[in-house]
Amino acid sequence: MVSVGRSLDFLRVSSAIGDTSSLWLHFNLVHPVAGGGYPSGLLKAGVAMTQALTLRPGRCWACGEPHLRVGDPLEHIVASAIGGVLTTDRFASDCNERLGRLIDQPYLRDPFVAIRRARHGIKDPRRPRPPASPRLTATTSDGRSVIFDLADNTVFWPPHFTEDGARHLVTAQNRDEARRAVESKVERLRRDGFKVRVGQPRTVRQPDDPVEAKFTLSMDSFLRARVAAKIALGAFSLVLPEDWLDTDEAKLLQSWLWDERPKTEDGGVIFAAPRKVPPPIDTLGTPPKHTLFFLPGDGRGALFGIVLFGEELMVVRTGPLDGRPPENAWQLDPIARTCKETSFSDLALRGAGVLPNDRDEDDLLPFQED
Ligand SMILES: [Zn+2]
Repeated sequence: MVSVGRSLDFLRVSSAIGDTSSLWLHFNLVHPVAGGGYPSGLLKAGVAMTQALTLRPGRCWACGEPHLRVGDPLEHIVASAIGGVLTTDRFASDCNERLGRLIDQPYLRDPFVAIRRARHGIKDPRRPRPPASPRLTATTSDGRSVIFDLADNTVFWPPHFTEDGARHLVTAQNRDEARRAVESKVERLRRDGFKVRVGQPRTVRQPDDPVEAKFTLSMDSFLRARVAAKIALGAFSLVLPEDWLDTDEAKLLQSWLWDERPKTEDGGVIFAAPRKVPPPIDTLGTPPKHTLFFLPGDGRGALFGIVLFGEELMVVRTGPLDGRPPENAWQLDPIARTCKETSFSDLALRGAGVLPNDRDEDDLLPFQED
């Protein structure tokens, strides 16, 4: 039995050896460590580039400036490495590049994202292998190390050594591991000039009481707001008129892109912990699909919902809109690397089982991969 509860700054995991059921379900209880940092990405230095400076019409949705150029790369609205094949050409090249470094790369290092990518086998198309399972080392109250593989919920106890006078004891998960640990220990002791006699292995009964181990998951609590702003601005660039960029909401979302500590409109601190998708939104798409959708609006404009991996919800506002709020929705399948353009009502009806769930191939937009 594994139970995970919230405590001040770590997840508490109680586990009996070998049984690792419901770790995942409780993950949204994690308490993010405020301002927990990540190493910044390495910059590629010394790359000489020549670029045509021909401007093209329109403004960049990341900063509002008219600095779009012919040849700007397409911006992936959801990061390409997590299957985001929906793109916009409304981001200027240097904003695109900076956002990749400031937002997409840290987001890919986030432990929850790493777990989901490993668990669902979501490959970065630019890399040959699927991402490795994220692992955490924790220490039990009696000082033993335990390793959690967070993607497949396995628990691994590395061999443990205790000394009792001249006697060394090795405890391991099974005989093979014990034997290997003994062999390397004996080799080291003999190299140091000790005479060593190896005793017979014994099977020790596992303790019935769950063992408690503590570990820390560190997470940038501002990053999710910035990810939401980037995805929203990208999606809005596909459906909202360009003069929306002059609204307060546009400027607020843009400020989140560039501010390491984004603020709400009244200057409050944003504390964006991963938020579980509540019903009925959870029926819009099965994990690990990403779903982006406009919710029917009111006088303050539409709400824009972002469900990543089918498991984490973020919502932003468009602010007041001149015309009718858009009804577009997009569903991205990070395994098949497809994007389906649809609407919230269509997704809701399918989620509720009112409409059948299979769709014709021609609903799949022919988005290009890099
Ligand atoms: Zn820009």
